[in-house]
Amino acid sequence: MAQAELTIDLDAVAANWRALAGRAAHGARTGAVVKADGYGLGAAEVARALVRAGARQFFVAQAAEGLALRAALGAVPDIFVLSGHMEGATAAIAEARLVPALNSIEQMTRHFAALPGHPFAVQIDTGMARLGLPPDHWRAVAGTILPERPLLLMSHLACADEPAHSMNAQQLSLFHTLTVGTGIARSLAATGGVLLGHPYHFELTRPGIGLYGGAPFAQARAVVALDLPVIQTRVIAPGTPVGYGASWIAPRESVIATVSAGYADGLPRALGGARAEGAGFALWAGGQRCPVVGRVSMDLITVDVTDLDEVPETLAVLGPGPGQGVDALAALAGTIGYEILTSLGARYARRHLGGG
Ligand SMILES: *Cc1c(COP(=O)(O)O)cnc(C)c1O
Repeated sequence: MAQAELTIDLDAVAANWRALAGRAAHGARTGAVVKADGYGLGAAEVARALVRAGARQFFVAQAAEGLALRAALGAVPDIFVLSGHMEGATAAIAEARLVPALNSIEQMTRHFAALPGHPFAVQIDTGMARLGLPPDHWRAVAGTILPERPLLLMSHLACADEPAHSMNAQQLSLFHTLTVGTGIARSLAATGGVLLGHPYHFELTRPGIGLYGGAPFAQARAVVALDLPVIQTRVIAPGTPVGYGASWIAPRESVIATVSAGYADGLPRALGGARAEGAGFALWAGGQRCPVVGRVSMDLITVDVTDLDEVPETLAVLGPGPGQGVDALAALAGTIGYEILTSLGARYARRHLGGG
């Protein structure tokens, strides 16, 4: 193998979608968030697999993403754009029949002027202060907007991955108050909200990270495997430094494998560095753990393979079996699984499995 390979298990994505759909309240449909190229795993491939699994509502961040997704999915599924109707997005929204989630009075004015009669959704800010109409703006325009029949009224939870956080109940209560009796479909729950339970589900949920195998969906099936080819190996004497800054010094005669990937491929430099024995960043040869030694550099990682009987052609960063998952890797780098997934670079050969 000449190039590092990212393997994406589309059957696992579909299984995770079905598992989240299986938790939905009676009458609630389950959509799918495929923004940022399907959290870095390929929006077209992921979404096609999810259409086969039964998903009909997709969410992207930007109109340009929606345009590409429409080309991949054909006419049937709804494609919602979370950034709404931005200046310059009208052509894409019209051409691809995207549904902008209108976030402000300004966006509403733009939408109704540019594309009268074109479907839209409304996003209301119930406490995150990020996107959506503040409650007083919504109250002021609801009487005018509701007769235009938005496809969806939505809001987003700030703290859904912390079930005990008081924000969850507060946002739920406010969303309920602002939308009750409208007769319009509603959506509040991303992955964390699905797991909070039925009162959060309304008519449509919109999980993202759980589909891709990440926390907080602890029961998710792992979706990604990442295998790095070994470029060369060397035997070094005790006392030999390895890598930039000579930050690791071999305590014994060691076999060091240099593998092809680094921080330019979404494996953060913060993964390297000294940690307690057995606790740091490691690659895997089958079930055997091989500690990463020295610093992660742009394109290369050095691995202590002294204890292997034989050095394989590739070492695994992520994958099934005993190795670390996306969230464990994120914890080592001081970040979250979302950031690891969306950072996995464009330099990998990508292989999609299943999804049929
Ligand atoms: C990203 C996003 C989601 C999906 O969130 P996950 O935590 O990945 O499930 C849902 N809704 C909105 C508004 C988002 O920005």
